[in-house]
Amino acid sequence: MVVSADVRDVAGMSEGTGEGSDDLFTVAVEQFTIAADVIGLEDDLRGVMSHCQRELTVHFPVEMDDGSVKVFAGHRVQHNSGPGPTKGGIRFHQSVTLSEVKALAMWMTWKCAVVGLPFGGAKGGVQVDPKLLSQAELQNLTRRYTAEIQPFIGPTVDIPAPDVNTNPQVMAWLMDTYSMNVGYSVPGVTTGKPLVLGGSAGRSEATGRGCVFGIEEAARHLGIPLVGSRTVVQGFGNAGSVAARLMAEDGSKVVAVSDSRGGTYNPAGLDLDAVARHKERTGSVAKFSGGDTISNSELLVLDCEILIPAAMEGQITEDNAHDVKARIIAEAANGPTSPEADRLLYERGVVVVPDILANAGGVTVSYFEWVQALQAFPWSEQQVNERLREIMRRSFAEVAGTAETYGVHLRTAALVRAIERVAEISRLRGIYP
Ligand code: GLU
Repeated sequence: MVVSADVRDVAGMSEGTGEGSDDLFTVAVEQFTIAADVIGLEDDLRGVMSHCQRELTVHFPVEMDDGSVKVFAGHRVQHNSGPGPTKGGIRFHQSVTLSEVKALAMWMTWKCAVVGLPFGGAKGGVQVDPKLLSQAELQNLTRRYTAEIQPFIGPTVDIPAPDVNTNPQVMAWLMDTYSMNVGYSVPGVTTGKPLVLGGSAGRSEATGRGCVFGIEEAARHLGIPLVGSRTVVQGFGNAGSVAARLMAEDGSKVVAVSDSRGGTYNPAGLDLDAVARHKERTGSVAKFSGGDTISNSELLVLDCEILIPAAMEGQITEDNAHDVKARIIAEAANGPTSPEADRLLYERGVVVVPDILANAGGVTVSYFEWVQALQAFPWSEQQVNERLREIMRRSFAEVAGTAETYGVHLRTAALVRAIERVAEISRLRGIYP
């Protein structure tokens, strides 16, 4: 790994979490350093931007259905509040660590900056497998976690949203808990809410939709026709299932999809409605009768033009990057590609539309939702989708231009743009006191 002594010191700061040297925050700092070197960023700002401003860890009790009490660990990290209130999702997953949440918070800062939103980055997580909880237990856990982080969040401070294994219902509980504690309804405290609570039209599709806008731009750039192309999607959750459907609407053949239990492959193209019904019935896309069973690692190296990792981080590494056949990888997930894999893919001419651009549609429509909540004035779905398309197209063009200027891949180009913006903000605001 290319890490200067200075930065290794920074990345090693997440004490007490039992993280190895390959932890996710180290990866995030390594990506940052590569881009900071490209623009010769001054040391003072490197120091500021390669740390997280606030890291909160909480341990809290939850009453379970059988009357017992379990203690869970959760985090909320705010990476940089220079650009505005901090923004980022909350994930419920058994593998959540402080290092992971820090990396995800840093990536949110860059993501908001790449598309020009007036937010800094944040992220939250609770270490839990929510599939093992009843609805009542999930509600108890959400409410108590919200109460624990309440002093650090708020509509002008830090605004949560859905992420892995959280959804509009979880956001409704979060909004209600916060609102009950302050004594009045605060719809702007979170985004990704149900529509009747001030959610935005188009929010639940926004990550997948934004990702497909990114793919359309990349394909146009490379002269790859989407009609008749083959798409592979890893992860069939909120982002992956929408991206798959929209790619099919663009005329691409979706030949494989997967989730944590495995995948299904049909070179003639999958019937996505039937896959969705199978998942509804069984809880997974695995063992779908209209396709052959494949593993998640086999799926990543299938013959295709477009690969959409839409699951967890750390999927494409130096071990499998050589075998990836796709020409475009669009990262609907956060952090699916390691820095070594980035280099190998770039050398092979595979275009990676990086997470901080490819999945920025989610936070962009979150921003629209926040604006609508503050103004109590809803927009139509058409307005939302048109504004999203405009932002994604403009951001892609800007990042592609920066990649050409510096002769770097799209991830480093996106980071360069983001870092330049946050650096300018930091210089203008200065240090208080
Ligand atoms: N969790 C999403 C992300 O990683 C959305 C964040 C938000 O809308 O604030 O971008």
